[in-house]
Amino acid sequence: MKDLPKHKGLRNQLVQVLKNKGIKDEKVLAAIAKIPRHLFMDSSFIDFAYKDKAFPIGAEQTISQPYTVAFQTELLQLKPKAKILEIGTGSGYQTAVLLALDTIVYSIERQKELFEKTKKFLPKLGYVAKKLIFGDGYVGFKDAAPYDGIIVTAGAPLVPKPLLAQLKIGGRLVIPVGEKEQVMTLFIRKSQREFEKQEFDKFAFVPFLKDVSK
Ligand code: SAH
Repeated sequence: MKDLPKHKGLRNQLVQVLKNKGIKDEKVLAAIAKIPRHLFMDSSFIDFAYKDKAFPIGAEQTISQPYTVAFQTELLQLKPKAKILEIGTGSGYQTAVLLALDTIVYSIERQKELFEKTKKFLPKLGYVAKKLIFGDGYVGFKDAAPYDGIIVTAGAPLVPKPLLAQLKIGGRLVIPVGEKEQVMTLFIRKSQREFEKQEFDKFAFVPFLKDVSK
């Protein structure tokens, strides 16, 4: 499958939609303008790739809506070479957006099928994560901690303590919190013990699941 000028044109339209919805970070918009989202989706949905919508990617999961990806990425306020932990690799689209911002990315996925597929696919597009991990995001990834940013791309019924613990001082955790719908929540680590919490709009995510043995 190819990335054609018509796809580039559709991406530019998508970027305009995201700007109209309030996304301002030029680097985030440039990443979305660059990454061929249609290649991350099942071929039957290709015509929808540049609509601002979430879509199925198999294993009952979805590729996040572009607005959601942009909103979460903007909240991370990434600097080049920042070390990021992503929970919920899924299709790898959000991973690619993070990598396009010149960051160092660790990403965890609990669905074996998706993990294997994305591990093969991402490098083919030239997006190389520092490490893709098969496992449970609730425990984070201690080996590479602390992180400048942690992003959870599934709806979390609670905020896992290990994720807060694995943030650098000044680091940011972006996590959608809630059961049926989620409030986008940002935690900024102020000191060893203190976290500033900010709440944003409501979003709808697939669940952040606990049992890896499913
Ligand atoms: N960032 C992805 C979004 C995928 S949807 C994308 O843009 O495509 C959320 C993902 O979180 C799913 O792939 C799901 O399997 C994964 N997930 C859910 N619970 C998890 C857990 N406990 N640990 C790691 N990944 C989890």
